[in-house]
Amino acid sequence: KEVLIKVENLKKYFLVKKGFFGKKLTYTKAVDDISFEIKKGETFGLVGESGCGKTTTGRCIVRLYDVTAGNIFFSNQDIGHMKEKRLKPLRKEFQMIFQDPYASLNSRMTVSDIIGEPIDVHQIAKGKERQEMIYELLNKVGLSKDHASRFPHEFSGGQRQRIGIARSLAVRPKFIVCDEPISALDVSIQAQVVNMLEDLQKDMGLTYLFVAHDLSMVKHISDRIGVMYLGKMVEIASSKELYKKPLHPYTQALLSAIPIPNPDITAMRNAEVLEGEVPSPINPPSGCRFRTRCKYAMERCKEEEPKFVDKDNGHLVACHLLE
Ligand code: SF4
Repeated sequence: KEVLIKVENLKKYFLVKKGFFGKKLTYTKAVDDISFEIKKGETFGLVGESGCGKTTTGRCIVRLYDVTAGNIFFSNQDIGHMKEKRLKPLRKEFQMIFQDPYASLNSRMTVSDIIGEPIDVHQIAKGKERQEMIYELLNKVGLSKDHASRFPHEFSGGQRQRIGIARSLAVRPKFIVCDEPISALDVSIQAQVVNMLEDLQKDMGLTYLFVAHDLSMVKHISDRIGVMYLGKMVEIASSKELYKKPLHPYTQALLSAIPIPNPDITAMRNAEVLEGEVPSPINPPSGCRFRTRCKYAMERCKEEEPKFVDKDNGHLVACHLLE
C-alpha cells in the first residue's frame, strides 16, 4: 500500500520555566526522535499514558505545532517545515477531531455556522450549494437538516462529537487525526462513534491516526498500532500481532491493565500491573526511558538507548532484551 504519512526522526521540545522564580529556562522533550509511516486508507493507533507525546505527535503532523526537528511527509511533500503560505492550500487535506466535544465547538454559533466555517475559509462552496453540503454532512454523521439551526448546548456529548466530525469532513480531507475522540463519551455511545468513523473511512477513503490512552480503545479500529512511552516509540505492530504477542515490557504491562482477560495473549504470562509514576520529560532517564519502571531492567539499559529493530515482518520494538 502507498504511504500517505511519513514521520522521520520527529522531535518536538517545548520551552518551560524552571527554578525558584521560574527564571531558568529548559526544555520538555514531548516527542523525542520518533519515526513511523501511515499507509493510505489505514488506521494507525497511537497509544500510551498521558504525557507520552501521542497528542503532540498528532498535532505536529497536522501542523498545529511547529516541528523542532525531523521531517513529516504528506503524499511525499515535506510539510514539516513548510511555511504557512505554502501550507495553507494543503491544510484542508489533513484535519483533527478533538477529544472534548464540549470545548471544541463554539457555543454561540449554530451547527450550520460551525460546519459552514471551514467551507468558507477554504472557499469550497457558496449559497445554495454550501447549504446542501452542510445538510449532506449532517446526514453522513447521523444527524439531520433539522439540527442545522440549533446550538451546541442543545445536543448530547455523542451528538456534539458528530458535529465536530462533520466539521472536519467539510473540507474533504484525506487524513484525520482522531485525538481520543471517544474517551469523553459514555461507554454506550463510544461504539456508535467508532462504527461511524469506520463507515466514513470506507465511504470517503480516509486515513486515520487514532490517538488513545489505552489499548482496548484502539483494538478494533486500528490496522497497526504504535506504543509510545515518554516521548519515544517503543513498539509498532499490526493490531492482531500486538495483542497476541506484545514484545516490549511496557506494551505487556499496558495490555495486562485491560480488565477483560484475553486468552489469546501468550507473551504476557509474567506481566504485572504497571507501577510508579511516569518520569518527567524535562529530565528523562538515561538509556531506556522505561528502565525506572521495568522489571527486566539491566545495567546496559541505563547506559545505552535501545534501537528500534524489526523482529518479525514489520513488528518493530526497542528493547535490549530483544536485540
Ligand atoms: Fe526494560 Fe531494558 Fe528493555 Fe528498557 S531496554 S524495556 S529497561 S529491559
